Amino acid sequence: MSSRPWRSVALAVLMIAVVGGIVVVASGLWSVLWGDDGSRIEGLSEEVPWEQAIVVPTVAPPTTQPPEPVFDLAQHSTSDPASPWVIVNKQHPIATGYEPADLVDVDGARVRAAVEPDLRAMVEAAGVDGARLVVRSGYRSYTEQAGARAAVEARRGFAHAERYSARPGFSEHQTGLAVDVDSGSQPSCNLQTCFTRTAEGAWLAERAWEFGFVVRYTEQNTAVTGYAPEGWHLRWVGRELTGHLHAEGIGSLEEALGVSGGPEYAAG
Ligand SMILES: [Zn+2]
Repeated sequence: MSSRPWRSVALAVLMIAVVGGIVVVASGLWSVLWGDDGSRIEGLSEEVPWEQAIVVPTVAPPTTQPPEPVFDLAQHSTSDPASPWVIVNKQHPIATGYEPADLVDVDGARVRAAVEPDLRAMVEAAGVDGARLVVRSGYRSYTEQAGARAAVEARRGFAHAERYSARPGFSEHQTGLAVDVDSGSQPSCNLQTCFTRTAEGAWLAERAWEFGFVVRYTEQNTAVTGYAPEGWHLRWVGRELTGHLHAEGIGSLEEALGVSGGPEYAAG
């Protein structure tokens, strides 16, 4: 016998406590893992008491879907020469006597008043990026267009003129919404095919839309517009429409507004 019997008692109590603890922990684990009735609990798919399992189907009220924001392509006329969205092409001439009432001067070129702020902002933004846009020409009257066309024809022949220069009465320049720009960095490419490869041509192709302008005649839309590519010829239609064209990847005003075009002149 030990001379200190209290130690044996204490040891026994400790043993009971340890064994008891193990049993409690084990049974707790058991019920967590297997449930009180021994059926394995699968994640959260615990059986739902039947009272709660009866789901009264709630009839969803007829949902009035919020209308998709639709860009209104009919908000401006495409035939009124004073409309910002007027389409002038070989199928759609402009009235011989039309002259815009609100022409203003921008760097020696005349444009409609609505065009001015965007044109100035664009030239400035291009300059910040190192592209030196030089405004070359804007509005041309019917008579001026007749002169310009005759000059191209005399210099390059009828066939060339047909591809590059509108007949009088068919030019966008008569709307006051079209602008030709030159390259400040490479003037030898002014009005030339190589303009698109100048810093200015590349900048316009990328960013003119941000200022409400489209590069009107591109390699991709020649069949639709009826003109050979002219990276320098810009048409102002406003930022709302150019934003739409950009977002939708639409390559011409004719396609966007559903207006006919092409290389053949309307029978007149
Ligand atoms: Zn032009």
